[in-house]
Amino acid sequence: MVTSSLDYVCTLIAPTDKPGFSEEFINAFFAVLTASAVAVNSTRILSKDRAVDYDIQVSASEIFEVKISLFELSNKAGIDIVFQPAGDARRSKGLVVFDMDSTLIQQEVIDMIAAYANVEEEVSKITAAAMNGEIDFNQSLSQRVGLLAGIPSTVFESLKSQIVFTPGARQLTHALNKLGVKTAVLSGGFIPLAKWVQAELGLDYAHANTLEISEDGTQLTGRTLGTVVNGHVKGQLLEEIATKENLDLSRTVAVGDGSNDLIMMGVAGFGVAFNAKPAVQEKAPSKLNTESLLDILYIFGYNDEEITELIN
Ligand SMILES: [Mg+2]
Repeated sequence: MVTSSLDYVCTLIAPTDKPGFSEEFINAFFAVLTASAVAVNSTRILSKDRAVDYDIQVSASEIFEVKISLFELSNKAGIDIVFQPAGDARRSKGLVVFDMDSTLIQQEVIDMIAAYANVEEEVSKITAAAMNGEIDFNQSLSQRVGLLAGIPSTVFESLKSQIVFTPGARQLTHALNKLGVKTAVLSGGFIPLAKWVQAELGLDYAHANTLEISEDGTQLTGRTLGTVVNGHVKGQLLEEIATKENLDLSRTVAVGDGSNDLIMMGVAGFGVAFNAKPAVQEKAPSKLNTESLLDILYIFGYNDEEITELIN
């Protein structure tokens, strides 16, 4: 039986705080490739001790097996292995969309508001129920937002100074701007902070949920207004932006950490689960568990020299 071979790129990315690839790991990596008769055509160092590209040829019938084996090896070794089709789409991105909470920023905004309002325990109970699949995103959002009724509408102003951006978020978005790549934050959180994050990072688009404000403008009513930005809507928004920018979906990427980011990762040409929950990492097109969002540029095929130029 003749099966066709396809060109892929396999990128190994070592953690920031533990650079280098041990001989044992490299041997295990090649053992996986050899077991599936994968041919390695060329190798490129993207970053000394941190990132390396292997151009490989895999028989179509072996791709699934190779991906699974590399995923297992990656988890065991604590080194990210990104497996993606070779070709121009890898480098020539047109749009990158990001989740906000625990992706572009380190916190979950709903938890910050809850702390502000002293309803942390109630909110985390609802969050846990949503994570266990007992209630869906829309239900959990409306229940959590309901707990925020009566909070001063100035809450977002006071939260801004507490927001911590994820390492590499500023450099990555700066680099993408320089490359002419459109960027967006698509958040299941709230628009005042998503707009602020958009302005801070120079993003092209921001979409999130709107919290209703009382008629006199002083407090939150505990309700949202308009369409709830859930996982499905994030996927739709990605498509809408791509259409507006006249971009083929193959040139789009979605980055997020939660299960409600999986749909947009599926809609996009490629997806990156960034420091995501294990179940999300398993289902996402790729995973990155390093400290910095800037490492996404290795996934796009840029080397350290090019990255330095892009961030300056
Ligand atoms: Mg998130």
